[in-house]
Amino acid sequence: MTPPRALLLPLLLLTACPQARRVEAPARKPTVILISVDGLRADYPERTNLPTIARLAAEGVRAEAMVPVFPSKTFPNHYSLVTGLWAEEHGILDNTIYDPDTDEWFSMTDSAAVSDARWWGGEPIWVTAERQGVITATCFWPGSEAPIGGVRPTYYVPYNGGMPYEDRVGLVLDWLDEEAPPQLITVYFDEPDGAGHKHGPDDPAVGDAAQEVDEALARLIDGLEARGLLDDVHVLITADHGMANISLDRVVFVDDYLNAQQLQTITWTPVLSFYPTEGLSAEEAVTALNQSPHLRCAKKEDRPPEQHLSSHPRLPPVICDADEGWSISGREWFGDYQDLYQGGAHGYDPVVESMHGVILGRGPRLSGGRAVGPTRAVDVYNLLAALLQITPATNSGDPAVAEEWLGE
Ligand SMILES: [Zn+2]
Repeated sequence: MTPPRALLLPLLLLTACPQARRVEAPARKPTVILISVDGLRADYPERTNLPTIARLAAEGVRAEAMVPVFPSKTFPNHYSLVTGLWAEEHGILDNTIYDPDTDEWFSMTDSAAVSDARWWGGEPIWVTAERQGVITATCFWPGSEAPIGGVRPTYYVPYNGGMPYEDRVGLVLDWLDEEAPPQLITVYFDEPDGAGHKHGPDDPAVGDAAQEVDEALARLIDGLEARGLLDDVHVLITADHGMANISLDRVVFVDDYLNAQQLQTITWTPVLSFYPTEGLSAEEAVTALNQSPHLRCAKKEDRPPEQHLSSHPRLPPVICDADEGWSISGREWFGDYQDLYQGGAHGYDPVVESMHGVILGRGPRLSGGRAVGPTRAVDVYNLLAALLQITPATNSGDPAVAEEWLGE
């Protein structure tokens, strides 16, 4: 007997749903696109029209600030973001490092050094992920060119500052089109840091540079939408630090306090770090330089514990940091490098608000336009591991921060 039409219809609907689901593509594995916008200070989105960042924050989760590690420089912070470790723990102590055991130098512009795993301690998120069977890809990130623990991202490209932003976004989208796409992708934008250094954070050129990055982000979001991926992918955007105004009128000259020839200087400003030489003791150097009202100098083991920059073997014996907006120089060469002492700078103590950056995310587990508290660079690794559903390595982040981000 044929059932009446009214009965047949609900039966068909009941059977249609599971069948339709069976032919759908399998759900994409947890995917994270981690984006660094260098020097995007925490307050820039409030004073510049950045429509993509505003949209992502409105639909996702935004923290009050990304609080960098000390020193608030580019390399230490990028590496803290992906390891959950302080600078003294991962060893990327500044953008320039000296190894007294091997008499070798590390500089962020030296491609041989940045791809040498000996400098990079700890375990970055792409290594954690690859070890757990997750495919990763990096379109630039400090550390990604070195085989850390013998592991590199499945896809990576050596740093090329001249690569147009459009091509960086295009590469990310190409990776997502792979048959076995990476689940963790990093991408890096060098502005508005460059404009901030050159002109100072309050110059309109900084807003223009931030808008250029926002346009690149718009292209990425459009590309995700076109692929039907926008709601399946977590996009996490973070700065590495902020920016403060500096001035030729706010410079501490070390020669005013001691004989600068007696310092083997590793970094100059706004964090001065050095080996005292030629009979000068660390104690004498500290006492002399602390006569400046704008410097805080100490032997490394006496540095403030909350800065976590006291105990690495590659750390020079004496470290001084300058007050916000102040620079440190030597009189002998100051005149030749005046550009370095005007415009903007970062590196100051992370308690200084101008050093804080933007951090926000959007995706299936980061939604609702929620605001969360300040998030330290060391707290981001646990969040990345949670989003990727992998087990994090031992780190110094607070797991409660990741839970707050996820609303758990
Ligand atoms: Zn930076």
